Amino acid sequence: MYYYSTNDHSLKVGFEEATIQGQAPGKGLYFPCFIPSLPPDFIKDLNSYAKEEIALRVIQPYVSNDIPAVELERIVAETVAFDFPLVPVTGDIASLELFHGPTLAFKDVGARFMSRCLRYFLRHENKKVTVLVATSGDTGGAVADGFCDVEGVDVIILYPSGKVSAIQELQLTTLGNNISALEVEGSFDDCQQMVKAAFGDKELAEKLFLTSANSINVARWLPQQFYYFFGYMQWAEKQPPVISVPSGNFGNICAGLLAHRSGLPVQKFIAACNANDVMPRYLNTGHYAPKETVPTLSNAMDVGDPSNFNRILELFNHQFHSIKEMISGFTISDAEVKRTIERVYQKHKYLPDPHGAVAYLALERYLQSNAGQKGFFLETAHPIKFNDTVEEIIGETVALPFSIQQLLSKEKKSIKLKPGDARLKEYLMER
Ligand SMILES: *Cc1c(COP(=O)(O)O)cnc(C)c1O
Repeated sequence: MYYYSTNDHSLKVGFEEATIQGQAPGKGLYFPCFIPSLPPDFIKDLNSYAKEEIALRVIQPYVSNDIPAVELERIVAETVAFDFPLVPVTGDIASLELFHGPTLAFKDVGARFMSRCLRYFLRHENKKVTVLVATSGDTGGAVADGFCDVEGVDVIILYPSGKVSAIQELQLTTLGNNISALEVEGSFDDCQQMVKAAFGDKELAEKLFLTSANSINVARWLPQQFYYFFGYMQWAEKQPPVISVPSGNFGNICAGLLAHRSGLPVQKFIAACNANDVMPRYLNTGHYAPKETVPTLSNAMDVGDPSNFNRILELFNHQFHSIKEMISGFTISDAEVKRTIERVYQKHKYLPDPHGAVAYLALERYLQSNAGQKGFFLETAHPIKFNDTVEEIIGETVALPFSIQQLLSKEKKSIKLKPGDARLKEYLMER
């Protein structure tokens, strides 16, 4: 498989190079030259396969010969080594729980796959690799966990001070060793901007071997297709599901769209957004108008200018009407999130986290105006990650999973940084 850059279609690299580079030169995104088709029989008999087999089938064409079959088999098995249950919530709505991994969020899948691919690609490398990543909440923890103690790799995480939950912060500031956390006194977009600038800096490129672990990296983006297949595997209805995806940078939904293009039956995708609703507005108007990030209760989706938007355009050949046909957009306010968490918990005995609640309500609204359809939403994080918010809403405490109990006794270690490209460069040059 070759990948071209969304900025320059004549530039083509293999999976290994795309993974090591992360971002294409000139701030482009790597995009697969073709989208593989899975045989209809395979899709029809999906639930007769093990999840490891499905994942391998899905990812193999994207990796080609860049990783030998035995290695890839191992990487895939380690990537999906936890449960992905589809849990019924109402008669029409189910929750695909993606929070059973080590950091309790769906980003574990992409981070585990990418860290293992990178480890394989760098097996003969003498120069240390620095993974630079900006996080609005969950990426940092998943990447830190995926790379913790990986030899030859340093991880530097930038996160917006005071804008991630207490547990998220502990997950990215307590690992130590090869993981460093930079606490930026600004927004997620500031963090993302600083990372982008560092990648474009010639002086830094000479000193360090920099790579990214954001969802722009194909090795994080592509494996997110797996659980769409796992969800469908457990889908008992005749009609294909409507799938609602709580979206921020749009990597997750874009992976779902890719899975659909490869043959996965899906009725409709729902781009479920909080107040940072550039996509729903685009779907209404045909104009892409990024704006300043607004802080919300679903902070991992607080993105004003989603970096995977161009991949969605690419996937649909820049045809607005095709995008509109496949994706419906919804904007859900914080007040609605609170009411939804309370109502779903009281009425259906299911506790969504604030991100899942955005997707739940968007799906419910869609189904109300599309009678006879059913669907599932992606529950992207465990509610305990947002226990302050959730406990206040339901007036009860949420039981702590064991992994979190251990975390609470650890000490936070971060370095404070003012926003601005020069500050990050200074920090990196001095390391
Ligand atoms: C990252 C994240 C999202 C948004 O996913 P994107 O791929 O950036 O659209 C949604 N929910 C949670 C819990 C997240 O951590």
